[in-house]
Amino acid sequence: MTLPPWQVVLWATLYFAALYFLTGALTGWLTQSLLPRMGLGRVLDQRPLRPGQLRREIAESCGSILLFGFGALVPWWLLRSGLAGLATQTSAPRIGIEFAALFLWNELHFYLCHRLLHTRPLRRFHAHHHRSLTPTPFSTYAFHPVEALLLGSVPILPMLVHDFSPIALFGLPVMSIVLNNLGHANYEFSRRAPAGGPLAASRRHHLHHAVYHGNYGFLLDVFDRLAGTTIAAGAADHLAAPSSGKDSRE
Ligand SMILES: [Zn+2]
Ligand SMILES: [Zn+2]
Repeated sequence: MTLPPWQVVLWATLYFAALYFLTGALTGWLTQSLLPRMGLGRVLDQRPLRPGQLRREIAESCGSILLFGFGALVPWWLLRSGLAGLATQTSAPRIGIEFAALFLWNELHFYLCHRLLHTRPLRRFHAHHHRSLTPTPFSTYAFHPVEALLLGSVPILPMLVHDFSPIALFGLPVMSIVLNNLGHANYEFSRRAPAGGPLAASRRHHLHHAVYHGNYGFLLDVFDRLAGTTIAAGAADHLAAPSSGKDSRE
């Protein structure tokens, strides 16, 4: 890695900003325009946004993006110091396995950090994110800096134990923000309600915002099931449109 530190910060900030705004705009268009017109899926929470919510979410997310930009200096320094390395020879199967490993680690890391953020000492920092009672695609990076630091630490441990392909490392934030959009879309992308499989993540994380206690995991519900912290799928059905629990038209 020969980039000077200021360029690392600049490019990383631009990368995270592009991911945030592009995926947020795409999810907004899908859930407010395309999918409702196709009669596919349903809005999960009909409550209006709080006054100034979108502006606050974007402002807080810009703070997180800047922090992630500066945070990129940590992996950069790990690579420079030789504490971590990049794979010189890559192949499609290797990249696939690395993505799968990073996905599983990302889920476990999120679950652990999220449980920590719901403990008494850290709850006040996480309260920033929970101000979005009805989540939006722009809630994805709306964190207090303490939460952004915790969640942004996700690549450190994997990099210390394995030399990843660059594409897997650069793909981690992409995978993470796509899952994040799924969770904060306030939309169930499924013909049946409640959705099953990976698409159930949008209802699960909406329930976390609506009920607060429970559903601390993201795409995988295995950690919540093991810990007994699963929220019943219909716990917030009263917040959806009257017909939306029955079929796909909404
Ligand atoms: Zn939470
Ligand atoms: Zn959330």
